[in-house]
Amino acid sequence: MTPRATYLDPKAVNSSSKLLLKQHLFSQLIGEWLRFVSTLIGVRVALSEGHVAITDARDGDHDGPHLKRGGHYKKIAKDVDLFVDCTDVNPGGVYVSAGSHPMWKLLGETWESMHPLCRWGGRFNDANHLSLEDEGVA
Ligand SMILES: [Zn+2]
Repeated sequence: MTPRATYLDPKAVNSSSKLLLKQHLFSQLIGEWLRFVSTLIGVRVALSEGHVAITDARDGDHDGPHLKRGGHYKKIAKDVDLFVDCTDVNPGGVYVSAGSHPMWKLLGETWESMHPLCRWGGRFNDANHLSLEDEGVA
């Protein structure tokens, strides 16, 4: 997939002052990725947890499944539930959580191809996690 979001120079983004631009980029890329998913027959996704409000971690409590200092606290991460084999008979399909599944590999690698900062959780045992890297954390 050819990345269309080229306005953020990957060489100039290792500064917190660039976080807003990363949030813009992430939102655009998620839209493009969802459009790609919609072209796949029998494949559907459900958007799951995205931004975790800053108040959730203000007291240092990172009790959720999200990585401390990770993208969920910076509006540059989204968890997505994947379903395959969706048909008229079984519209809900089959939930897929394993990053080793061929469809997750396709979708994760597509995400990674969209921008140099794109990170897919399938690389670290969290297949449904899509994010942008910021300060070395995905
Ligand atoms: Zn996540």
